[in-house]
Amino acid sequence: MEITDIPVEGYERVARCIDQESGLHALIAVHDTTLGPALGGLRFLKYESEEDALFDVVRLAKGMTRKSAVADTGLGGGKSVIIGDPETIKSPELFRAMGRFVDNFGGSYITAEDMNISIADLRHVRETTPYVTGLSREEGGSGNPSPYTAYGCVVGIEAAAKHRYGSSDLAGKRILIQGVGAVGGEMARLLKERGADVIICDIKEDRVAALCEEFGYRSVSEENHLDEECDIYAPCARGAGINDETIPRLTCDIVAGCANNMLLEPRHGDELSQRGILYAPDFVVNAAGIINVSVERHEGGYNEEVAMEKIHRIADNLEEVFQLAEERGIGTHTAAQLLAELRIERAKAEQMS
Ligand code: NAD
Repeated sequence: MEITDIPVEGYERVARCIDQESGLHALIAVHDTTLGPALGGLRFLKYESEEDALFDVVRLAKGMTRKSAVADTGLGGGKSVIIGDPETIKSPELFRAMGRFVDNFGGSYITAEDMNISIADLRHVRETTPYVTGLSREEGGSGNPSPYTAYGCVVGIEAAAKHRYGSSDLAGKRILIQGVGAVGGEMARLLKERGADVIICDIKEDRVAALCEEFGYRSVSEENHLDEECDIYAPCARGAGINDETIPRLTCDIVAGCANNMLLEPRHGDELSQRGILYAPDFVVNAAGIINVSVERHEGGYNEEVAMEKIHRIADNLEEVFQLAEERGIGTHTAAQLLAELRIERAKAEQMS
């Protein structure tokens, strides 16, 4: 086992973790622990190079700092990645080795599930370190985050509607959801329950047909979905969907969904506001998963009531972002980042005094 620190400016610790025996090559990044231990998932991907993996892990770790700061989870930001083909190199021993590296951080980094990582994989990590979250309820964890993320996004959509229309009532609002997977699918159900006119699209046509049949949604093809008139557009598939090509086609008043990094570039957030579209920043809206997981650290362990109470605060966080954007004459995405920075600075000042 070999752990080497990689100096990265602005990060508390980034380390390369190599275990020859199991074939593990991983990176762990701790961006900032001012507000608490750095929690962020473990991603397993066939990166082209270690450089690509490093770019990804540091960017994601910083994103977790911001997300947790605005969501007030009492956590800092971190992330880890395993480099390699999950189809071929996954083994219990590899995850045990990963656990030993996580343990080397002494609790300043806490891991969780991310791309290509299952609960079964996390169980192996848990064999060699206690710093693992997101295990099942039976094992004392907070379980699958997706239904909570979906609920939090609906709270966020209601808050955005209140800001834009003066009422959070979604009855009769045309809401277009792109991507009806674990989160988008549950969001569609919750929005329909609130009387919204739900329109869905997904590249999985069978899934769209089954959901429309069961819940009575309307559907539109993925290629034409942006031509569908709607009040609220909810990107819930992949990142970078809000870009130069898509913005001119948007007919909505609000963009609010769960997809991470939905703006291709920060300037696309400004372009949305120039077009009079209210953008509810993705990392504020989709924070319920991390909020839910953060409750595992509460005294007495995970408690759903506490989690739900904190998830409802997404509405207040979002309103604070909208207010800050208006006060400073900046885009809402910039305001959300600023709010995170202000909260971290305030905590730093309090720790110094
Ligand atoms: P998922 O894989 O279950 O669902 C994604 C869905 O999008 C799939 O049904 C897929 O077929 C569809 N899709 C992919 N490309 C598409 C396209 N071009 N057009 C239409 N549909 C397309 O994933 P998920 O867990 O629901 O996550 C969705 C997004 O939310 C991701 O960006 C994820 O990072 C983000 N997110 C998820 C959580 C969570 O708790 N699961 C938390 C925070 C953020």
